[in-house]
Amino acid sequence: MPAQLIDGNALSKQIRAEVAHRTAALKARGVQPKLAILLVGDDPASDVYTRHKVKDSTETGLLATLERHPADLPEAALLARIRELNADPAVHGILVQLPLPRHMDASHVIETIAPAKDVDGFHIASAGALMVGRPGFLPCTPYGCMKMLDAIGCDLRGKHAVVIGRSNIVGKPMAMLLLQRHATVTICHSATANLAAITRQADVIVAAVGKRNLLTADMVKPGAVVIDVGMNRNDAGALCGDVDFEGVRQVAGWITPVPGGVGPMTRAMLLVNTLEAAERAQAD
Ligand code: NAP
Repeated sequence: MPAQLIDGNALSKQIRAEVAHRTAALKARGVQPKLAILLVGDDPASDVYTRHKVKDSTETGLLATLERHPADLPEAALLARIRELNADPAVHGILVQLPLPRHMDASHVIETIAPAKDVDGFHIASAGALMVGRPGFLPCTPYGCMKMLDAIGCDLRGKHAVVIGRSNIVGKPMAMLLLQRHATVTICHSATANLAAITRQADVIVAAVGKRNLLTADMVKPGAVVIDVGMNRNDAGALCGDVDFEGVRQVAGWITPVPGGVGPMTRAMLLVNTLEAAERAQAD
């Protein structure tokens, strides 16, 4: 029997509806949750992503502003602008769209954002909070993957979860979240020997690499849950993930499609984080 689909479009719609509901409640108390997005340069993909973020916010009642800055903006000017936004009580979330131009140090820029407004969850303080199990902001993609696992009632305790990819924004935080839920976690990367032997032992596989057909049916245990984070293009130019979807769906128990899987969940979790930032600011 082919795998059941984990529908990111449907689940993200539910999450957006909850965000809209909680946002309306905050607004009724006179608080308008606000996200400030900073875009430096004219990267076409970043332009699309930031416009989506504004649209998503507006549709759920959040206020989002998009500030565009030229590619040659000095780093000091960007840092000064972030500090202004840090000090502005009307702004609850600050997002600097990555990648930044080469003359900027992305870590330095991100770490200038006040941790209480780090709705991307990329600040070192957010990473540290996740590592020690303290409240912070979770990076949107792993956060969305966890929501998908929760939605199918996946009990991770004692399960073997294999994360392929070890980036700071996806692979590592994903592994920490699975560990928090008492899974036994293996992290694989480009130097992993015999990836297939490891993935074949997995009850849950999260593929976050950026290589199409990295995970094929022969690498998956029957009934496993497969979450495909990858975003690639196939020969026809269509969006596809890291997983050979048609092959793996014959073996897996659950699988996320691309498109319509992790992508919409990532977008939805930014809204959740922004709303939470506004709610926490009221509670302080
Ligand atoms: P990244 O920073 O490039 O990291 C990729 C990881 O894959 C690295 O850890 C790398 O290992 C590992 N890797 C490369 N080749 C491998 C191989 N043959 N076997 C096993 N591991 C291998 O990428 P990222 O930012 O984490 O993103 C990963 C993918 O997810 C990309 O396709 C990206 O577009 C996509 N993505 C999607 C969403 C979404 O919302 N759907 C959000 C974020 C990212 P090393 O560390 O050893 O180099």
